Amino acid sequence: MNSIPDARYADRLAACRVAIDAGGFGALLLSVGPDLRYLTGFVGEPMERLTLLVVPADGKAQFVVPRLEAAKAEATPLVRAGGAEVVAFEETDDPAARVADLLAALGLGAAGTGTGTGKPLGLSDRLWAMHVLQLQRALPGRVFEPASAVLRELRIVKDADEARLLRLAAAAADRTIEAIAAGPLIGRAEADVAREIRGRLVDEGHDVADFAIVGSGPNGASPHHDAGERRIQAGEPVVLDIGGTLAGYLSDTTRTVWVAGEQGIEPEPEFRRVYDLVREANEAATAAVRPGVTAASIDTVARGVIGAAGYGEYFTHRTGHGIGLEVHEDPYIVEGNSAALRPGMAFSVEPGIYLPGRWGVRLENIVLCGDEAGEPLNRSSLDLRVARG
Ligand code: ZN
Ligand code: ZN
Ligand code: ZN
Repeated sequence: MNSIPDARYADRLAACRVAIDAGGFGALLLSVGPDLRYLTGFVGEPMERLTLLVVPADGKAQFVVPRLEAAKAEATPLVRAGGAEVVAFEETDDPAARVADLLAALGLGAAGTGTGTGKPLGLSDRLWAMHVLQLQRALPGRVFEPASAVLRELRIVKDADEARLLRLAAAAADRTIEAIAAGPLIGRAEADVAREIRGRLVDEGHDVADFAIVGSGPNGASPHHDAGERRIQAGEPVVLDIGGTLAGYLSDTTRTVWVAGEQGIEPEPEFRRVYDLVREANEAATAAVRPGVTAASIDTVARGVIGAAGYGEYFTHRTGHGIGLEVHEDPYIVEGNSAALRPGMAFSVEPGIYLPGRWGVRLENIVLCGDEAGEPLNRSSLDLRVARG
């Protein structure tokens, strides 16, 4: 089945409590977003009404939700398994005050009012400022810190079910890339191709299509180009960077296509050279993945290949980013990240070379660190694709 087994949520909460205690936090306050989904299975969009999972180191977790979402919260795997209790508030209630009362009952209220009030409260990174400010007013004197200090370590290593979902998402993205790269592309606006990509991502099994970068010709030199009205022409490359969400887990893959047209226009020699270089950087960095090496060392390998050929200044971003319930999460494959890779870490390897005003080349796979080596979850070929139409 395409989901995380229900029983896993109780395990995750138990591991979270241990980490809360070890990290010296009084409690974590987690709002709608990936941390909340990780612990409860709750899927939603952040909004002006506060939704907050209060996880103390000791004592039952309380899931504070607006009344209209109480049934949805009751139906989450964590609550069904008895791991958290739903506390519903009404439209005229002050939810921050409710949270402060709950914390006070645990000895974690306003500063100086209980035994645990010297410990920081961890807030999820995605909690809106309006809610943070209300919580600060309701809990005078309390210190707030990012809950990611705790959640990062839990989420950074994927278990077998998470790896399975990442693999399924990657395969769905691969099928989408193959279909788009086969054309037709010539004469179409980037935005039109992006619409087709989004449709196919969903048809191939994603629940949601999250992004579809289509950078044709000179637009490919802008790594995060928004697909626009420019029409794709024969005799230029197109960078396709696409991804979606499948059962909460993201795909993210990039291929660069050469649009040859009916007349079979050949790319200029420098394009071939740059393409081969980016491919070599991708393959060398992927081959360097194994437990114990640092995240930074993978970046160094990719950058070394491109730098040695004289294109270092045109590789303008880090080599990759972790992926899971978020498209960008730890571990970041970047200079200075001395964290050692561990089996179960999943991240992108996406070197690129961008020549302003001309074109760009990027090749991106998601790689899962295994017990001995890296496993690319994207299986579509790194050969240069040539579109005739
Ligand atoms: Zn990107
Ligand atoms: Zn990407
Ligand atoms: Zn990426």
